[in-house]
Amino acid sequence: MIPKAYLTVSVDDGHPTDMRSAELFQRFGLKATFYIPARNLERELMSVHGIREVAQHFEVGSHTFNHTPLNRLSDEEARAEINDGKKWLEDVAGREVVAFSYPKGKFRARSVQLVRGAGFLGARTCMSNVNGFPRNPFLWGVSTHGYSHRAAVQIRHALLEKNFRGMFNFVFTHRLARTWSEHFRHAVDSVEKHGGVAHLYFHSWEIDEQGQWNDLTRLLENISQWKGLVRLTNGDLFKLWHARTKKGGQGSREDKEGDLPLRNQQESRGAV
Ligand SMILES: [Zn+2]
Repeated sequence: MIPKAYLTVSVDDGHPTDMRSAELFQRFGLKATFYIPARNLERELMSVHGIREVAQHFEVGSHTFNHTPLNRLSDEEARAEINDGKKWLEDVAGREVVAFSYPKGKFRARSVQLVRGAGFLGARTCMSNVNGFPRNPFLWGVSTHGYSHRAAVQIRHALLEKNFRGMFNFVFTHRLARTWSEHFRHAVDSVEKHGGVAHLYFHSWEIDEQGQWNDLTRLLENISQWKGLVRLTNGDLFKLWHARTKKGGQGSREDKEGDLPLRNQQESRGAV
């Protein structure tokens, strides 16, 4: 039996060029989560009107209030960033916000507790080369960052994050891919065969700066043709995680697969 295979996309920062990404997702019938802060000193933000338009078709997730990395803040400051960012986005979008992503992928153990305490169902990190359900939904990794990192950078990040499963996947699933689009195609390929979650995350402003709209369009068109993958938002996946964990039994066994990297990936490796 082929285990369930899921496809999800997330876009960070709420930059005005996110509208262009949203148009592509609509064109190719893809689901996505846009993580949007209320303010960002480093970059322009979409108008409230733009955010409402995106929220009509896609999930919006919180990215704190000021886009400040949580690892630098006191508990009190971090709590305010997390809670105020959620409330602000719920007011703008007119609906509950259940998904969170850590600004710049930075957090501490305490930040994770605060995000959970604020009522989110899960949180996306920037830990990459991860193609499965995590043990902790507040440490949700991604397959691919839409930016072409050098192999040395991928390995260094994996080591710093103690993401050994990711390092293994980078070599054996993603085949040391040089470009991010090739990297993600390997994720989709593997997830369709072995189950799991193919998760692409990117910043539209980075796609724009790198002049990669054509690459993004081609990749999205390509993955939209993979019929074997169930398309979900990040929030849908977080809900699914909780539903399975509550049920226990078969669900929890599948959930843990992502966290037993070597044994499971070696099985996959033989089959790839
Ligand atoms: Zn960000």
